[in-house]
Amino acid sequence: MLVNPVRYGNLALLPGEHALGPLGRQHFYSGYRRFSKSVADLTVDIDSFSPAALSRVAYSDLYKKFGRSEQSYSSFLSGHTLLNYYRPFAPGSLSPLLERNAYVMPLLPRNVIHSITWRSCPVCVELAVSEHGFPYFRLEHQLPCATQCALHQCALTSGCLSCCRIWSSLERIGMPPLGKKCSKCGGELDELGTLAYSDSDVAWVHQMSLRLLSSDLPLFTHSRLQLAYQKWLGVDSKVGILNLRERAIVSDAQFELDNRFQDLLYRAFLRGDNSPSIKKRSSKLSVFHAAFSPDLFIPPVFHLLIIRMMFGDFESIPI
Ligand SMILES: [Zn+2]
Ligand SMILES: [Zn+2]
Repeated sequence: MLVNPVRYGNLALLPGEHALGPLGRQHFYSGYRRFSKSVADLTVDIDSFSPAALSRVAYSDLYKKFGRSEQSYSSFLSGHTLLNYYRPFAPGSLSPLLERNAYVMPLLPRNVIHSITWRSCPVCVELAVSEHGFPYFRLEHQLPCATQCALHQCALTSGCLSCCRIWSSLERIGMPPLGKKCSKCGGELDELGTLAYSDSDVAWVHQMSLRLLSSDLPLFTHSRLQLAYQKWLGVDSKVGILNLRERAIVSDAQFELDNRFQDLLYRAFLRGDNSPSIKKRSSKLSVFHAAFSPDLFIPPVFHLLIIRMMFGDFESIPI
């Protein structure tokens, strides 16, 4: 029989926990069937809980409840959402949107694997249960493409092979399973890292994702990055209008990007579009858009692959 044990103090936001975590936990422990009822004291913003949202009313409600007195809203978001990871790649400043609590989701997350699903590490869960009495969703495991725990080198779990294939809605999961089986039906959990491909480029992307999250990289903005791409290509920005020679240069760079890495790397990060009829690895992985579309919020992993191809590392970007 599966029992939800009541733990005192479960309504807290732990260091490194995703901001929405307490809502799922509250629902899990509350006994209410309806999610809206169990979290009514915390927020009324209860639609589609994905870890990828950069801004939403629930975040500011949770900040009021759990933010430390000396902590600004922006540092709360940096510590408990994926904002740091996405922000440098956002066209323009996100600050006005964050201040308004506008609902902001990064564009095209579905082209990137594991970008809107909840994931957890079984070893982290065990440690959290012994330390806090309950497991919680750690922020770094929710990074797009993350399939392994960087701390324990083990596969992240996401989904139950029997009842809930993909953990996309926090309302259904509540919190990570306490053991190695699904807490709803007792079924086997889906282990992501066991099938994951790895090489030095894959490792670099994961490492840089973690460094972005902890703001441990040279400061840059989307517009400066676009200038660096244009410089590498040797094509000046003309608001997206290129002549024939420039188009040929971009097309060569696109070919290089689509063939720079091992086949399996593209499948480790990108979804779909791998049919032989399509020359590009993903219709959305585009050098042209990354370099010349000033208003497109492209998934960071696309930028990471382009940076790896053009400059090798962040430190070598001419910005
Ligand atoms: Zn772990
Ligand atoms: Zn299940």
